[in-house]
Amino acid sequence: MAADEPEAGHYLAGLRLAGRKVVVVGGGSVAQRRLPNLLAAQARVVVVAIDPTPAVEANPLVEVVRRPYADGDLDGAWYAIACTDDPAVNAAVADEAQRRRIFCVRADDARSGTAVTPASARHDGLAVGVLASGDHRRSAQVRDRLLAALEHSASPSTPPEGPHAPGVALVGGGPGAPDLITVRGRALLQRADVVVADRLAPAELLAGLRPDVEVIDAAKVPYGRAIRQEKINEILVDRARAGRFVVRLKGGDPYVFGRGFEEVQACVEAGVPVTVVPGVTSAISAPALAGIPVTHRGITHEVVIVSGHVAPDHPDSLTDWPELGRLAGTIVLMMGVDRLDEFAAALIDGGRDGQTPVAMIENASLPTQRLLRSALVDAPAVAREEGLRPPAIIVIGAVAGFLEGAAEAE
Ligand code: SAH
Repeated sequence: MAADEPEAGHYLAGLRLAGRKVVVVGGGSVAQRRLPNLLAAQARVVVVAIDPTPAVEANPLVEVVRRPYADGDLDGAWYAIACTDDPAVNAAVADEAQRRRIFCVRADDARSGTAVTPASARHDGLAVGVLASGDHRRSAQVRDRLLAALEHSASPSTPPEGPHAPGVALVGGGPGAPDLITVRGRALLQRADVVVADRLAPAELLAGLRPDVEVIDAAKVPYGRAIRQEKINEILVDRARAGRFVVRLKGGDPYVFGRGFEEVQACVEAGVPVTVVPGVTSAISAPALAGIPVTHRGITHEVVIVSGHVAPDHPDSLTDWPELGRLAGTIVLMMGVDRLDEFAAALIDGGRDGQTPVAMIENASLPTQRLLRSALVDAPAVAREEGLRPPAIIVIGAVAGFLEGAAEAE
């Protein structure tokens, strides 16, 4: 590209490619990177390539023609991308495109093509594309900044990007750090008129809400445990029926010991539109944040996530603790701090080795995160001595001994 030759500006257009043939000549990394957006636009993509990458070849939505490009391959195409590693082939593709008046991108020499690919992104119904006269690094940087600005427009001083339709979104907030919510969850939170938050919902996210958002602390809804859930369901339904968009913000994932499904049922019964946004559950992420993989090849082929909200011998318990004691894999115990002695005893009675490593992770992902380690038989005493407090995840199994200083577990 001659630097002294001023380039005419590009005319930006959005192409409707659904059902239309797009020919990509070349099957390497450039093709691989272009395919997702073409397929998202539902284009009928034909890749002509001698040696396509496995990802291109294995893509079931793409027709792969495994041979060298031949004149005529662009027949019937609306758009073409020439991205082989052979400039002569790319030039030939561009020539054919020119003859047939098909817009064509030349990956190796942008100016010789009749179209260029913008740095692009999608956000909440928007398509953002940036062209920077061939300066790819700049266009990608600007795209990233635009996207970050769109994603961060939740600050109290910034208005939301327009109202959301009334209804309820059950959003998993992740284990507690404000940046461990999903992108989708945060986008919906930014549009909420009402936020009903659990005790374990990331507090910093609430601090970032606009002042006009009504925040209801579900933990403070009065009455006993059972009635409280009914009251919360009622609040969700009533607010949504009043035409407001309600985000029910929960810690971790809404469906992992979060009673999320009860709330979905209540909304469905009331005819209120409801959607669920999964979250990063503390069951998996608290161990990960402490450096513990819940599975490891050759060590464990199972993870059992168990609630400790009732004692092992309680009539309401649905857990077969003797069976769990026979398990060799990983056990993740949630809500287990207060009765850890009973759970440890039940597992050992069931056959689990008392020397099995245990890791206890308190306040995972928060500045107060703390990790305690011991053998299973000593875990209740260690927890007591160190003053372990909920919320904590207790990991039982060989993977809990993977940390540095594993000898302490002996
Ligand atoms: N739905 C949540 C779990 C709710 S039950 C999720 O998917 O994570 C509450 C239990 O979750 C707590 O008793 C504790 O065991 C665990 N927990 C939640 N947040 C935690 C955190 N930041 N650190 C450690 N444990 C946590």
